[in-house]
Amino acid sequence: MMTKTKEFVAESVQNMRPSGIRKFFDLAANMEGVVSLGVGEPDFVTSWSVREAAILSLEKGYTSYTANAGLLELRNEIADYMENRFHVKYDPKEEIIVTVGASQAIDIAMRAIINPGDEIIVVEPCFVSYVPLVELAGGKAVTIETKPEHDFKLQPDQLKQAITPKTKALLICSPNNPTGTQLTKEDLQGICDIVIEHDLLVIADEIYAELAYDIQHTSIASIEGMQERTILINGFSKGFAMTGWRLGFCCAPKEISHACLKIHQYAMMCASTPAQYAALEALQSGMDDVVQMTKDYRRRRNYIVSSLNEIGLDCHIPGGAFYAFPSIKSTGLSSEEFAEKLLMEQKVAVVPGNVFGKGGEGHIRCSYASSMEQLQEAIKRIKNFIEK
Ligand code: PMP
Repeated sequence: MMTKTKEFVAESVQNMRPSGIRKFFDLAANMEGVVSLGVGEPDFVTSWSVREAAILSLEKGYTSYTANAGLLELRNEIADYMENRFHVKYDPKEEIIVTVGASQAIDIAMRAIINPGDEIIVVEPCFVSYVPLVELAGGKAVTIETKPEHDFKLQPDQLKQAITPKTKALLICSPNNPTGTQLTKEDLQGICDIVIEHDLLVIADEIYAELAYDIQHTSIASIEGMQERTILINGFSKGFAMTGWRLGFCCAPKEISHACLKIHQYAMMCASTPAQYAALEALQSGMDDVVQMTKDYRRRRNYIVSSLNEIGLDCHIPGGAFYAFPSIKSTGLSSEEFAEKLLMEQKVAVVPGNVFGKGGEGHIRCSYASSMEQLQEAIKRIKNFIEK
C-alpha cells in the first residue's frame, strides 16, 4: 500500500508559505564570493563575559531544568532592566516569562489570546512570522499597509478603519523589521488612544528596542493605560548579539502571563539553562558592549542610507533595528527580480520586500549588520548593477 505521507500533514501547514528569506539564504549558500546583506542578525559575537558565564554554569553542573517561567534571578534582572531602561514595572514572579527567543514569546502570546476567528491586526511590511503564527493559533490576520510617504508608520485612521467587532489585538513592532521605522512617543499615543477607545489588546514586539539611533526607544507599555492591555515581547538576540542562544521573554498582566505560562510549560518546559545563565550575566555586566555595538550600527546606518540615496535608490532614514529598506521602483524590476538578478550578476544577497507582506513590493531589505568593508563592497556592486 502506498502511504500518502503528504496527506498526514495538517492542511493549515500545507497551506503555509515557506519563508521567502530562507529561499535567498539557500541560493546564496551555494555560491562563492557573496556579500550578504540578507541576514537579520548581528555580525558581533556575544560578549566574552556572557559566554564565560554559560561555560561556568556548565562547569558548576547547572544542567537541570529551571522553573518553567525561567530562573527567578534572571526574571528579577529582567524586571530591573525593563524598569530602568523603558520605565515599565513588572512583577518578576507573576508577569515575566523567559522564552526560547522572542519567536516563542510571539507564539505563546498568540495562542494564549486567540479564539477561533478572532482578528489580529498586523501592520505590514513586517517580520515574516506574524501572519503564519496568527493563523496557526486559529486567528485571522487583518493586514494594514504602511507607506513610505508616512515613513512606514501606522496612521491612526488606518487603524480605525481596520477595527471590526471581531478585532482582538493589534500586533505592532518598533523599531521595525524590515523598515527600521521607529515610532515616537507621539506616534504611539495616537495609536494607543484608538486601542483604548476600542478596548483592544496590543502585542508589542520590541526586540530591537536597544537598537535605536536618534531618540530613545519608547515602550508602548509605558504609555498611560497601556500596560494592562499589552503583551510586551523582547529578548537578547539583537541588542545583546545573542541570536543563537535562543533567549527572549514576554511581560504581560498576571492573567495573560499565566495563560502564556500554561502553554509554555507543556510545549517547552523552560528555556535552555546555560543560555539563561548567559543572559543573567548580560544584564548584570552593564550595557557597555551594547552601547558600543549600537554606535557601530549607527555609523553603518548613516553610511548605507546615504550611499543608497546617492546611487538612486530612494531610502528613508530608519531610526532603529539594522535594516535599510530602499525603494527599487526606479529600476522597473519587481523586488524578487531585483534580488535574484543582483545575486546572480553581482553576488550581493538582499531580501526582496514582497516577503514582508503588503507595502513591501518595490523595496529590498538590506541588513547593515555587516562590517564597513562588506557594506562598502556591497554598495560598489549594487552601483554597478544599477548602472547596467
Ligand atoms: N521579531 C522580529 C521583528 C525579528 O526581526 C526577529 C528576528 N529576526 C524576531 C522577532 C525573533 O527573534 P528571536 O531570535 O529572539 O527569536
